[in-house]
Amino acid sequence: MPAKTLIAKAKTGRKPVGLLERLAAGPVICAEGYLFEFERRGYLQAGAYVPEIVLERPDLVEGLHRDFVHAGSDVVEAFTYYAHRAKLKMVGREKDLEKINRAALRIAAKVAKSTGTLLAGDICNTSIYGAADPASHKQARRIFDEQVGWAVDANVDFIVGETYSFTGEALLALEAIKRSGKPAVMTLSFPREGRMRDGDTAADACKRLEGAGADVVGLNCARGPATTLPLLREIRAAVRCHVAGAPVPYRTTPAEPTFQSLTDPGYPGLPDNRPFPIALDPFVCNRFEIAEFGKAAWDLGVRYLGVCCGAGPHHIRSLAEALGRQPPASRFSPDMSKHILFGTDKRLRQDYLEYARRNYRNARTP
Ligand SMILES: [Zn+2]
Repeated sequence: MPAKTLIAKAKTGRKPVGLLERLAAGPVICAEGYLFEFERRGYLQAGAYVPEIVLERPDLVEGLHRDFVHAGSDVVEAFTYYAHRAKLKMVGREKDLEKINRAALRIAAKVAKSTGTLLAGDICNTSIYGAADPASHKQARRIFDEQVGWAVDANVDFIVGETYSFTGEALLALEAIKRSGKPAVMTLSFPREGRMRDGDTAADACKRLEGAGADVVGLNCARGPATTLPLLREIRAAVRCHVAGAPVPYRTTPAEPTFQSLTDPGYPGLPDNRPFPIALDPFVCNRFEIAEFGKAAWDLGVRYLGVCCGAGPHHIRSLAEALGRQPPASRFSPDMSKHILFGTDKRLRQDYLEYARRNYRNARTP
């Protein structure tokens, strides 16, 4: 279906076509990064990273969903990441488990409905799974089943299972989603060592997920664009289903391929000498780098695209524009022609422009 028809459908307020139809027609953008954004703003604690803000400031959660849609996200992903039994127990709020999940889904559903975007449920790594620990598998199943159940009650369009670094855990999550009958987007957080924690390559893990019925497989979180792209190429070649890529917006390298492994020679005073997770600022990708990632991933055949922890609306807009979109936020995309020092507009003071030409020259200025 052409993009124009999709937009027309969304505008008439009819139920938007589903995820798989949209993927067949073109790219689907899913903004993420809620935990890091609210941590930066001071509404959520680094460490446990539990989204208590859903209950405490639903207005802000709704606002960030709207910011991301404004910037080009086609999906509103309910903020239920780490809102599961094990994490809530860790912060002493297990009694709020159902309430927080239903609230997150209600907020996301409200925004999706009013903007014609897709509503996604979200489940994630349990933090208690052990590959050779059958009791933990039982606990993980319970965690997945209860969160999937609440997502189904909220009538989500599809469910994302994300940030798994054990294939086995991802497969358990997928089983739970498949039982719900909803389309499943399964993304892995691929470890620094170059193997899943239970041994698979990224391509093999994705193949196993496809074999078990995932509709979309791929990667999210952990790695920046530079160390995500080569893996997406391998995954794309290994599977027939749609592929997803949602890197973190940080400048990871082959030597330090994940944001947890980055080191900052520019600042020696960090606890544990580790910028992750709250001192990653010097590594943030600019919007041009995110645009380049979007184009390169699209050229590989990756259709489900996003940016994970660290993302801001400017990254999402850049990604959307790189894919040929003009989201509402594009109205305010930069126009340097009117800048007082670097512009070209005839109404600007010419002596300012001359001043800038003299004083802001650098080696790369033409
Ligand atoms: Zn992330």
